Amino acid sequence: MGISYDDAVGFVRAFAGVIAENKEYLTQLDSAIGDADHGINMDRGFRAVIDKLEPLEPGDVGAMFKTVGMTLVSTVGGAGGPLYGTLFLQLGVKSAGKDLLEPEDWAEMLSAAVDGVIARGKAELEDKTMVDALVPGRDAFRAALDGGASLGDALRRSADAAEEGMRATIPLVARKGRASYLGERSAGHQDPGATSSALLLRTAAETWGG
Ligand code: ADP
Ligand code: MG
Repeated sequence: MGISYDDAVGFVRAFAGVIAENKEYLTQLDSAIGDADHGINMDRGFRAVIDKLEPLEPGDVGAMFKTVGMTLVSTVGGAGGPLYGTLFLQLGVKSAGKDLLEPEDWAEMLSAAVDGVIARGKAELEDKTMVDALVPGRDAFRAALDGGASLGDALRRSADAAEEGMRATIPLVARKGRASYLGERSAGHQDPGATSSALLLRTAAETWGG
């Protein structure tokens, strides 16, 4: 019932595929309130990640996630690269040396990853960023586990909460990142980073949720 090394790699590969499929959509969202590159940035980063996964020695989930994070930092430009890089690096820090993740491990990994994104970007809830999807996603996973939910149910509730947070960015006025330069004109558009983060947690639910 845990998440194996192969499951963890499968999640990263699946997310790379989801990003490729949603490249135009994410870029289109970013064209409304940014510089029309979020999908392009993420896709470039995850293509590079795929090339780095193959030669890895299998077994250490933490080392694998750290490789993902470092690859994103070095290949993705803009705000997204360092933020997603930090997210995956922190997933790796919390899973260092593990070859199997229990649901509690994912709760701790997700918590560290979200804290890392917040420490790096200094965004608060309702600043209209990826934090608006990640925080509810993290909290819903924790609450579901504490309530006795199975891994699959907890992952689905986490993804649902992240999507709700993503949709709730639509009316918000951006206070961080490029979209904040638009002021009031940023309202009425869904945040691209919150959208990719909701996709990340949905991918976890779909690959690990059974
Ligand atoms: P850039 O804005 O440099 O072009 P991207 O387009 O790849 O980078 O990513 C934009 C997304 O990054 C935004 O939609 C937002 O979710 C996220 N973002 C921007 N600044 C911050 C921040 N300080 N903290 C958290 N997320 C941020
Ligand atoms: Mg952009």
